[in-house]
Amino acid sequence: MSDSTATDLRNVIVIGSGPSGYTAAVYAARAQLAPLVFEGSVTAGGALMNTTEVENFPGFRDGIMGPALMDEMKAQAERFGAELIADDVVEVDLTGDEKIVKTADATYRARAVILATGSGYRKLELDNEEKLSGRGVSYCATCDGFFFREQHIAVIGGGDSAIEEATFLTRFGSKVSLIHRRDSLRASKIMQERAFADPKLEIVWNSEVASINGEESLESITLRDTVTGETRDLAATGLFIAIGHEPRSELLQGQVDLDDNGYVLVKHPSTATNLPGVFAAGDVVDHHYRQAITAAGTGCAAALDAERYLAMLD
Ligand code: FAD
Repeated sequence: MSDSTATDLRNVIVIGSGPSGYTAAVYAARAQLAPLVFEGSVTAGGALMNTTEVENFPGFRDGIMGPALMDEMKAQAERFGAELIADDVVEVDLTGDEKIVKTADATYRARAVILATGSGYRKLELDNEEKLSGRGVSYCATCDGFFFREQHIAVIGGGDSAIEEATFLTRFGSKVSLIHRRDSLRASKIMQERAFADPKLEIVWNSEVASINGEESLESITLRDTVTGETRDLAATGLFIAIGHEPRSELLQGQVDLDDNGYVLVKHPSTATNLPGVFAAGDVVDHHYRQAITAAGTGCAAALDAERYLAMLD
């Protein structure tokens, strides 16, 4: 891209290319706003590029592979004239009327910006974790629980969301083992009572995952006792890692208002942030639902909010 193009004042820049970013791009492009989308250099397409079958995105009754779904969204955005750049935004200044967005090589300007940078699940950082992600290893019970009917499922974690995931998974699994490093849970009392009362749920205390085992799919996990150091295998064919998630908002610190955990604060039900002309959508805002369809929904809302904001300026 030439420098002269790079310094043109755009209507809308979208940062992020998951379901929220691409959906925002489709809507903004169809509103003739010619959006510029920064997709990211390594993870263009977002979180669903790392998964296999997606069975809960409406419109695909037989399911669709995550990367195929994202390719469709990308092509749909391009079809209506969105310009996509597979690069990382490294710096922003969103405080003025003209928003400044920088990559390592160029500076871009826009009248409105949509933040759609998503969030990441915390990982165990073990061998095989990535290879078997979508093949027995999962980070989302709502997304994947259905695939593990009548199987032995292990859940890693000890907070409210781990217990919630484990309790939900007892609907599907023949047995659910909640693996926890300590001898007591961090989760709220009511969640703990629910877990203790569930006949399908066993809590494996003082244990951590030493290895994730399997070639094509998960075959077992090896647990290490955190007190004695002894190891043993657990023949689980599903492993749900529920140790938290983090918004990708480092770029935005000191720019838009964030909550205590780093999620972008918006003025619900709109997607407006505290800065005029700056909107946010998807998992960088939402730590509650974290689904592709909810991210797409708020991406749509952000584009409509940006469109109305620009119409008011004109
Ligand atoms: P993301 O999809 O995370 O996309 C964020 C984008 O922002 C990325 O493309 C990234 O490259 C880009 N980005 C970040 N920072 C920058 C930057 N500085 N510059 C440029 N670009 C940047 N949900 C379901 O509904 N069904 C499922 O079956 C399902 N399965 C899942 C399986 C896995 C393994 C995972 C991890 C998630 C799954 N989810 C599923 C959840 C779903 O993927 C997310 O809720 C959804 O992708 C969030 O969309 P998003 O657009 O907010 O963010």
